[in-house]
Amino acid sequence: MTTTSNALDYSSKIYIAGHRGMVGSAIHRRLQQAGYTNLVTRHRAELDLLDQKKTADFLASEKVDFIFLAAAKTGGIYANDTYSADFIYENLMIETNVIHAAFSSGVKRLLFTGSSCIYPRDCPQPIVEDYLLTGPLEPTNSAYAIAKIAGIKLCESYNKQYGMSYFSVMPTNLYGPNDNYDLNSGHVLPALIRKAHEAKGRGDDSLVVWGSGRPMREFMYVDDLADACVFLMESGIAGGMYNIGTGVDVTIRELAETVMDIVGFKGGIIFDSSKPDGTPRKLLSVDRLNALGWRARTSLREGIVKTYSDFLAGRDTV
Ligand code: GDP
Repeated sequence: MTTTSNALDYSSKIYIAGHRGMVGSAIHRRLQQAGYTNLVTRHRAELDLLDQKKTADFLASEKVDFIFLAAAKTGGIYANDTYSADFIYENLMIETNVIHAAFSSGVKRLLFTGSSCIYPRDCPQPIVEDYLLTGPLEPTNSAYAIAKIAGIKLCESYNKQYGMSYFSVMPTNLYGPNDNYDLNSGHVLPALIRKAHEAKGRGDDSLVVWGSGRPMREFMYVDDLADACVFLMESGIAGGMYNIGTGVDVTIRELAETVMDIVGFKGGIIFDSSKPDGTPRKLLSVDRLNALGWRARTSLREGIVKTYSDFLAGRDTV
């Protein structure tokens, strides 16, 4: 394993791109908890990362040491499929602008957040990093996946050609504080929390779950992802590609039952077969990261309990 001396330290000036999103806000929280104080953030009205010149000028003048690139356009199966042009365009622009401007302004260490949907739809399970580009993608999110694959290749190429230390991390399906609870654009876990909560409030007999309930997904509490990202950036190791997950997956039916149990909704489930199932299964192999000594800590039940209490406290955007 190659090591570099340029790991984070407490005097580092660190830019978190996308600090208001679920992933960026979790990384921001984690860095604050760990005692980092020189944190740079900009919300969208202050800095539009789709604007190449503004992004380059910002990084040239701020002179940050490290970057966590969590800014992205993300969404669930319906949004990805319906707004594919927005997903590919915005993600390609953000990645290209930030990663190139990071390089131009001398940032040697950066962490880019990808997604587990970059892997071929039908690849062997659990999915190891080397399966990248070994088969066709899942059609419902292929535009988004192509943009994220471009981000991985940007990091890899700046590492190879210029000796940078840029990480690409591939998180499994995430959930937690600051998630998107919109039923059309969000992912399955926040959608089911909201549906179960509202169904309970109305006294419904059942709630609707999209697809067959048979696809399998691995869910990770976003604070565990943030912990892994900071762990990698604090390590002395050189950049590279890492899966980040829990190593455990469940069917969508099992997920719905767990959510219903935690929310206290006693009705049944109706499966809506007019909605797509998407990828049958995407369980990540976390061996590469585990070998460095990192492991996820939050069980699915514990994470959903915390997330539901955040939802009840109204801290999440609907
Ligand atoms: P994916 O992992 O990219 O497929 O994204 P999602 O989190 O949106 O969907 C995961 C799986 O959950 C898919 O098989 C969906 O059809 C299923 N699902 C079941 N009910 C819902 C729901 O209410 N919203 C969403 N987004 N997905 C649902």
